Amino acid sequence: MQDRTHTADAEPGDEVTVAGWVHEIRDLGGIAFLILRDSTGKIQIKFEKDEMDDDLVETGLDVSRESVVTVSGAVEAEPRAPTGVEITPESLEVVAPADPELPLDPSGKVDADLSTRLDNRTLDLRKEDVQAIFEIRSEILRAVRDQFREFDCTEITTPKIVATGTEGGTELFPITYFGEEAFMNQSPQLFKQLIAGSNVERVFEIGPIFRAEEHNTPRHLNEATSIDFEGAFCDQNDAMDVVEGVVKAAYEAVDEHCGDELEALDLEDEFGAPDEEFPRLSYEEAIERINATDELDEQLVWGDDLSTEAEKALGQDVGGHYFITDWPSEIKPFYIKDHDDDPDLSTGFDLMHPRMELVSGGQREHRHENLIEGFEQQGLDPDQFEYYTKMFKYGMPPHAGFGLGGERLIMTILGLENIREAVLFPRDRQRLSP
Ligand code: ATP
Ligand code: MG
Ligand code: MG
Ligand code: MG
Repeated sequence: MQDRTHTADAEPGDEVTVAGWVHEIRDLGGIAFLILRDSTGKIQIKFEKDEMDDDLVETGLDVSRESVVTVSGAVEAEPRAPTGVEITPESLEVVAPADPELPLDPSGKVDADLSTRLDNRTLDLRKEDVQAIFEIRSEILRAVRDQFREFDCTEITTPKIVATGTEGGTELFPITYFGEEAFMNQSPQLFKQLIAGSNVERVFEIGPIFRAEEHNTPRHLNEATSIDFEGAFCDQNDAMDVVEGVVKAAYEAVDEHCGDELEALDLEDEFGAPDEEFPRLSYEEAIERINATDELDEQLVWGDDLSTEAEKALGQDVGGHYFITDWPSEIKPFYIKDHDDDPDLSTGFDLMHPRMELVSGGQREHRHENLIEGFEQQGLDPDQFEYYTKMFKYGMPPHAGFGLGGERLIMTILGLENIREAVLFPRDRQRLSP
């Protein structure tokens, strides 16, 4: 195979060897075109049948779509070509022929359902709009990392195979670990707290979480990417400031650096980064506003968790991102600290996008005795969590943090219908491979 010297964005005047996939062949009789595609775009290869070597013409025009070819020749300006240039080939080699029966059409002309697309991700990712989602995902993760560094955080990696889950319960995937029962971790919660209690103080992690969700929904995965923060000497308000900074940084990066990708997704006109401050509604205000919308069959009362319908009603009412703060203690986990002057109220908060929950966070219970009490109230055996609780006896500072769903962030930024579109190889109740 001849080595590639240029990509599909080659300029007129260059003598090139390009390599890529056969996107399309258009045979107009005396003249025919092969459109070659690579990660940078597409370039037209021109075949003038009477003036070119017969073998070259035959190889170039008989090759099946999506085969990998290399083409050598001169690049010339051609205003009628899709990208304004074309190559007159001197040689063409079929490097990897594609079966003419493709399970899906990478040109996007024929729609495929999501399941077929996920079964054939390699072909699916040859579509411009699908590739754009994952280029944007990569940019969002870069922006999030940079923003955490601005906030003086250290990136950490915590174990995913654990002896106890963060909150126990039916959401845990059990595994066998050298004959012992273990679990896939459902959140880095306990580990990040243990590190925030060291001199490292401020940490973040971007890593997988595993949850055996009871139902298939468009916003739950069984393996998701969690963007976590934990900071010593922070309270819930500081943690909300960090959330807001990170979410806005993600939007701004997409706005600034992903123009081509937004265009491929047809989003370039409507896209904008939020510039208003995210309002902070108390749980009490939230349920009052939900009740006032009259969207629900039954009025909410203090202590109720917010159903999907309730979240939607409030999301429409507010119209942008917003925080819900001061949740009832009893519906937040044991590690969330209660308000000192009102133990029924917690410091827990959620960040909501109008479509769904993006973040849960709060100030943490850092006092050993209160923490043990919290375990017992939640029906968990504190002895099983001794590796965690004992560190609260050796100088645990007040601290706060949050977990942000990475795929939910991507999904809401891009308006994707289904969270599976934001993951290369999603895991759900029906899907374990590829
Ligand atoms: P939900 O109420 O939507 O089930 P949660 O309250 O159970 O979410 P948390 O434990 O608060 O989730 O986790 C923090 C964040 O992680 C959530 O706000 C969400 O963005 C994300 N997340 C949680 N579970 C999933 C999942 N199964 N798939 C994708 N993202 C998830
Ligand atoms: Mg959940
Ligand atoms: Mg929730
Ligand atoms: Mg939550």
